[in-house]
Amino acid sequence: MSNVLNNFLTENLDALKNQGLYNEIDPVEGPNGAKINVRGSELINLSSNNYLGLATNPALKQIAKDAVDKYGVGAGAVRTINGTLDLHVRLEQKLAEFKGTEAAISYQSGFNCNMAAISAVMDKNDAILSDQLNHASIIDGCRLSKAKIIPFNHSDMEDLRAKAKQATESGQYNKVMVITDGVFSMDGDIAKLPEIVEIAKEFDLITYVDDAHGSGVTGKGKGTVKHFGLEKEIDFQIGTLSKAIGVVGGYVAGKKNLIDWLKVRSRPFLFSTALPPGDVAAITAAVQMIIDSTELHDKLWENGDYLKAGLSKLGFDIGASETPITPCIIGDEKLTQTFSKRLFEEGVYAKSIVFPTVPKGTGRVRNMPTADHTKEMLDEAIAIYEKVGKELGVIN
Ligand SMILES: *Cc1c(COP(=O)(O)O)cnc(C)c1O
Repeated sequence: MSNVLNNFLTENLDALKNQGLYNEIDPVEGPNGAKINVRGSELINLSSNNYLGLATNPALKQIAKDAVDKYGVGAGAVRTINGTLDLHVRLEQKLAEFKGTEAAISYQSGFNCNMAAISAVMDKNDAILSDQLNHASIIDGCRLSKAKIIPFNHSDMEDLRAKAKQATESGQYNKVMVITDGVFSMDGDIAKLPEIVEIAKEFDLITYVDDAHGSGVTGKGKGTVKHFGLEKEIDFQIGTLSKAIGVVGGYVAGKKNLIDWLKVRSRPFLFSTALPPGDVAAITAAVQMIIDSTELHDKLWENGDYLKAGLSKLGFDIGASETPITPCIIGDEKLTQTFSKRLFEEGVYAKSIVFPTVPKGTGRVRNMPTADHTKEMLDEAIAIYEKVGKELGVIN
């Protein structure tokens, strides 16, 4: 190894470890369901994005296996050479139906979907108004485009309007885009899409909503854009196939001419191998399940509301979430980490999230209930929260 690299790695890894910021990863020994096995213990799992339990759904597992038998384990090429299987075409039709748009395009992940889509449309002569709490993949996608990034205060519509006015009236930019998460993953709050659309209309902004945490969860499962009835108003509806949908991948849903353009200009579509057939078949069936029935969605919300009520009654600060995402705000970073560690020892897996992921002094343990949790599991988790909360003086 080069000395320069070795010194760089040693210095920086040691610094992280000394500050207690080096993240040790616990492998899950088995499926990522409502209960998981980690380091030999069985724990109630409140950390996955497997909102509807579809990652471990038996029918979807069988559909994936059947597709592997028929098509093999890999797509064999990038989409534009001959990696487009009939399965991909069916998936994209299903995604368009799901999102109420003319067309859709799938990608290998939600992260690379943002890399793909933003830079296919925006360039150095453009500007992007970006909510300050947007996901890392949105930030990286914006950077890759080389457009001017203009952050606005989180969900602050006055700030957005002022910056939209300034950007469009300056005459400096060819195109201006506004970009936001649909549901913000750390607090569980929902973007103010009706106001964003109004501002976008006033200044002719391109609208881009990444609904990774909304699809399957809000809008009776159909997402945050649907929740507000704005399918005709949002230019880019982005989603992931890796959270509520339970598999892996990402997509853009929108007008046919937008999707046609992304198929010829978005680089991960052109230069990275297509999603594998087993995944594509399972995803298509998962989307169909969400279209056909709200049963899992309803169970998810029932569980979310139950967990929130239980923690709130004990005196925990659960923030202002509008979705099943349930932060338990502890404050101090060290205390938050100790809290999460004690939960683990007592039988609950819930990750601590601290600065720089969230602002200093707002350290939290984030709970992600799913449709697969039973009342008994949630009662047990709440009892463990009570025990640890009292022990650490977070509640009385
Ligand atoms: C999780 C997330 C992504 C990344 O999705 P993956 O499919 O896991 O790559 C993108 N955007 C937002 C807003 C997310 O929350």
